[in-house]
Amino acid sequence: MPINKGAIAAKKIINEFGLENPQDFSIEELIYARDIIFEEKKILNSDGRIVFGKSKTKISINSEIKYSGRRRFTLAHELGHFELHHNENTHLEDNTLTLDYFKYGGQEYEANQFAVELLMPSASFVSFTKGKQFSPDLLREIAEHFQTSLTSATFRYLEIGQHPISLFHCRDKKVIYWKNSPDYYRRIKDITKLQPPTDSVAMEFFNDGTIYREEDSAQEIYKSTWFETDEYDNEDEYYEYAIVTKDYNTVLSVVWED
Ligand SMILES: [Zn+2]
Repeated sequence: MPINKGAIAAKKIINEFGLENPQDFSIEELIYARDIIFEEKKILNSDGRIVFGKSKTKISINSEIKYSGRRRFTLAHELGHFELHHNENTHLEDNTLTLDYFKYGGQEYEANQFAVELLMPSASFVSFTKGKQFSPDLLREIAEHFQTSLTSATFRYLEIGQHPISLFHCRDKKVIYWKNSPDYYRRIKDITKLQPPTDSVAMEFFNDGTIYREEDSAQEIYKSTWFETDEYDNEDEYYEYAIVTKDYNTVLSVVWED
């Protein structure tokens, strides 16, 4: 793991403004406190944008974002660019944010790490999730509690949650990236850049648009759906929860065993 510059910058701003509870402040307040021009308007194909001028910086947010958690996460991400990348760019555009979580290094990763630490500080996250059984409902509960996007809550869970999970990010019927919780060793099938497995929940969405109701989020699958298995494997129960973002034709599949 590289040094987490994003998280360090987030802790710095938390200390500077004495932000004890992530629910008690809006990101707009911090943007104004940094003397950044802020605007909300319809932006095509982007969630957010930051323009570094000679004397002033401007952050724009797409007024068409449907979910308040996603909006808040995007704002925090743009603020992260301001804190971290002030002198390196003229402007940055952000759209398929979820993709960037998978890449280590680089500005997008740093801005995401900043947003994650600002909105879901590790200590608060650990104490909120402690002793709670893992389920899709828990991920939704986390997103609501910390007022952030479901995907960012899911990635945070993968990093520091108590129950090991695996994540598969698929777009346009292809597996783009996957990742396991730290110290969770499961051999993933060789599927990167290929179609998701035929018996996966992700594939159900790509084939016929299936999106399960909230109460049916945890779908039973086989270990062999996503992982390599051998003759010593018993058929333990595995589950898949497909988080669909229709606008981008993406699925973030969460896979876990009980
Ligand atoms: Zn960005």
